[in-house]
Amino acid sequence: MKTINVPIPGKEYNVHVHSGILFDIDKYIDVNKQIVIITDDFIPKIYLNTILNKIINPLIIEVPMGEDSKSISQVTYIINTMIENKITRSCLVLALGGGVIGDLAGFVASIYFRGVDYIQIPTTLLSQIDSSIGGKVGINSENMKNAIGSFYQPKMVIIDPNTLNTLSIKQKNNGVAELIKYGLIADKSLFEDVCNKDIWSNIEHYITRSIEIKRDYVIDDEHDNGKRQILNFGHTIGHAIEQFSKYSLLHGEAVAIGMLAMAKDTKYHIQLQNCLAKFDLLKTY
Ligand code: NAD
Repeated sequence: MKTINVPIPGKEYNVHVHSGILFDIDKYIDVNKQIVIITDDFIPKIYLNTILNKIINPLIIEVPMGEDSKSISQVTYIINTMIENKITRSCLVLALGGGVIGDLAGFVASIYFRGVDYIQIPTTLLSQIDSSIGGKVGINSENMKNAIGSFYQPKMVIIDPNTLNTLSIKQKNNGVAELIKYGLIADKSLFEDVCNKDIWSNIEHYITRSIEIKRDYVIDDEHDNGKRQILNFGHTIGHAIEQFSKYSLLHGEAVAIGMLAMAKDTKYHIQLQNCLAKFDLLKTY
């Protein structure tokens, strides 16, 4: 097991990465709290059922899978459901799912009774190495991605790499785009490994390394005013493409195109192109 500390002043938290950790969730969270689990309807039920073995009578709120759930209507639905079920300020929200659930549940936690505790339990590669770390939470407006949101750090992040076993190849590759990004901005050997090795046989290591890289940018610039913006490499073009495609392109697929465009005049361009092709991330380029 690996624990990565994220020492944001006054909001410090740990990220625990361990295969099988979901079976022991009661060792990490206070199961006597009033717990709200927010998840989506496509995530295999095995993960929810695993944590339900250890949590007594939580409120489970399920939203439809996909980017459309990052919406004000889903926020209203979740908040109304929590109020109807008499969920108090001392509750604990668990975000069980990919980046959509993490962004949505984290945003709800940031505004429910002016803020309640939440824990990220990311289940996609993209959410394990990127979106669950750093406290950016939010939803989309009708015409702009991530237009409504806050910076609101989780109390903890619990990562079980075994959840990736049920992820489709396309969703895995979607996450690999962000792995490649970390390699390009901060760790040449990570980039070389992703391009040349079988990363899946040692994925726990690459998840951990990515989190360390993201942590180092976030702790120096929590609110994204300077250094943290390096993490957006390829994302300005990527977000535009993602939105223009009406989300038929996944986040990582769009960012891949953005990174390649940004690297056009560098010595890494060809290597990056080949690497992205290895993960089927260039089919629309
Ligand atoms: P996602 O949350 O939509 O998940 C992708 C699909 O995988 C969904 O259909 C989901 O039901 C399914 N799924 C989840 N876990 C699974 C599992 N273990 N097995 C099988 N299926 C599973 O997408 P994502 O790629 O995880 O996240 C994308 C979102 O993250 C975007 O909205 C993006 O804006 C956001 N994001 C946020 C940040 C941040 O810092 N907050 C950073 C990057 C991306």
